Order: sequence, then structure tokens, then C-alpha cells
Amino acid sequence: MLEELKKLSLVVRENEPLKNHTTFQIGGPAKIYLEVSEPAKLVECLKVIKAADMNYMLLGGGSNLVVSDAGFNGAVIKIKPRELKINDEQVKVDSGYSLAGLIMKTLDSSLTGLEFEAGVPGTVGGAIKGNAGTYGEAMDKIVKSIEYLDDDLNIKTIENNDCHFTYRHSIFKEHDTWLILSSILQLAKGDTKSSRDLIDQRIKYRMDSQPYGCPSAGCTFKNIIYTDEIAQQLKKLDWEISPKFKEYKKIPAAWVIENLGLKGKTIGKAQVSEKHANYIINLGGAKADEVIQLVSLIKQQVRDKVGIQLEEEIRYVGF
Ligand SMILES: Cc1cc2nc3c(=O)[nH]c(=O)nc-3n(C[C@H](O)[C@H](O)[C@H](O)COP(=O)(O)OP(=O)(O)OC[C@H]3O[C@@H](n4cnc5c(N)ncnc54)[C@H](O)[C@@H]3O)c2cc1C
Repeated sequence: MLEELKKLSLVVRENEPLKNHTTFQIGGPAKIYLEVSEPAKLVECLKVIKAADMNYMLLGGGSNLVVSDAGFNGAVIKIKPRELKINDEQVKVDSGYSLAGLIMKTLDSSLTGLEFEAGVPGTVGGAIKGNAGTYGEAMDKIVKSIEYLDDDLNIKTIENNDCHFTYRHSIFKEHDTWLILSSILQLAKGDTKSSRDLIDQRIKYRMDSQPYGCPSAGCTFKNIIYTDEIAQQLKKLDWEISPKFKEYKKIPAAWVIENLGLKGKTIGKAQVSEKHANYIINLGGAKADEVIQLVSLIKQQVRDKVGIQLEEEIRYVGF
């Protein structure tokens, strides 16, 4: 099998440490790690992998992942190179293109509309799958259609309305083995000076308020959807409730975790960030097991003391 994959791929490695491919810098080896140059080669590689009855997953920027210490018993695939084509206000972009690169390239072509992704690491494919975003806006705002490979390796196109986009969710989370190849995004000609200023402002805010530069997988938990019932539960606690929670219909998970006094809580080398309580950071050499223990502790305390069941935003691989 390896020989066949080597003919089709740019890179094939066995037992590749995934901590080298995740922003958390955590994770044991992938049985096989591949870098593939184009969709046609991807399909051929997948035929080989499927014939060997092996698990597989596509890796984007590795910025949303907690990979187990045992690693991933299958093939981890990265698609390279990445292309982007602009046609008036529409952009066709390959899934492996970085979000940061996409923002810069489209601004250079006088297109605006991606300000909400400023500072979000990773690739377009990963962002579509997790409907990533900030300030209440996410990829569903700009995605027009997506080309993907289904389980039978057919190339299909799906339109925005059929993508089941909700908060940090898309149909690709319901079908973990569908692989996003490219997407068409709808942007708009606009005032790029204001757009660049807003992006700079937001990145500065993120650097000031988040553990910038510390290995992490971003926010650990999804924010909590505001309901009157949850608001009543919170009123029983002696915590200062911002009117913004009701306005934006979200209660920040960070606010709950911080109020429980869990900032700085450390297990092994995994720590609840002192700067932003919804981030778990790797102090250096953290194990996935330590992250899992910290996640469990937070969930249990939030459940017991606040009556809310937190849901992870991070994604687990190899557990
Ligand atoms: C410091 C930091 C800040 C962050 N801030 C934010 C934020 O503000 N908002 C936010 O929403 N997120 C944030 N994140 C989380 C993360 O950046 C996003 O979830 C991002 O969209 C993940 O993209 P990725 O390419 O890194 O995906 P990965 O982490 O590589 O993968 C995530 C999932 O997507 C799958 N995947 C990747 N590419 C494809 C593809 N082409 N087809 C099918 N499946 C695919 C993977 O298999 C995996 O299941 C942050 C992360 C960090 C480290």
C-alpha cells in the first residue's frame, strides 16, 4: 500500500507525530501521513486507503484539534498546493488555503466581507466544517457553494442552504468522512481601508485578551445559547450578568469558567489560561490525557454548580 501511495503523493510518512501538525502541539503519531497535490490524486489515494480498510481524515491547519497521545490509527491527509481564483465578487478557493491568506489576497483585490475571520487560524476547509467565525458572524455568511467528495468518492456540489449551518456546525460535522475540496465565496467590493483597520483592531483585541502565542486549540467550549431558563438559573448565583448576553443570545463559556474560579487550574502541563478562561493552553509537553482531565473537571463543575452542560468546540481525534 505504501508503495502505491508514494506514487500518488508528494509526501508519505509512517508514524508521523501529529503534535508537529497541531497548534496545541499535542498528539501521538498518525499511522500514515500524506500530502497530496490535487483532488484527482486525493481520490486515487483514498481508493488505496479504502481498499486497505483504513480510517482517514483530512487535516487543515490542525487548529481545532486535540489528538490522543496514542495518535490516529489511520491516514491523515493534507492537500497541497492551494489555489484561489477571483471572478468579480466571487472567490473560488481550495479547502487547504489558509484563512489569513484568503483575507489578504481578497483585500488586495478590493474585496471585503471576511473581517469576521480576522485572527482565526487554520484553513478554509476547517473553517467551513466548523462554521468558524467571531462577533456572531461565521462562514455561512459568505459561502455560496461547496465542492466535496462524498463517502463513495464522488465529487458533489452543495449549496449554502443545504449545509445545515448553525453555530459552529455544518453538514460536514454530520458526515465526518466527506472531504471539502473547494468553495465559492460571495464577497463584495468595498472600502478596503476600513476593512483593514477593522481587521487590525480585532487582531489587536485578540492579542490583548487571548493567550496569544501559547499552544492551544482555541476556545475549548462553545458559548452557551441564552434561554430564559438558563438566565433564571444564573440569577440564583451571585454573578454580574451583562445585558449583552441577552442581546447576543449567547453566554460566554469563559465567563462561567472564570466565575467558578477555574482560571489557572492546571493538570500536568495543561492549564486553563489565566488570560482567557475558555482556552486550555499547553505549558510545554502537555499530554492529551491531561487536557481531557481538565475538560472533564470543568464540565463537571459547570454542571454541578451552574446546571449547564458545556459542549466542546475543540474536536477529538484518535480517542
Ligand atoms: C489561537 C486560536 C484561536 C482561535 N480562534 C477561533 C475563533 O475566533 N473562532 C473560531 O470559530 N475558531 C477559532 N479557533 C479554532 C480553529 O482555528 C477553527 O476551528 C478553524 O476553522 C479550524 O480550521 P483548521 O483548518 O485548523 O481545521 P483542523 O483543526 O485541521 O480540522 C478541524 C476539523 O475539520 C476537518 N477538516 C479540515 N479540513 C477539512 C476539509 N477540507 N474537508 C473536510 N474536513 C476537513 C478535520 O478533519 C477536523 O475534523 C481558534 C484556534 C486557535 C488555535
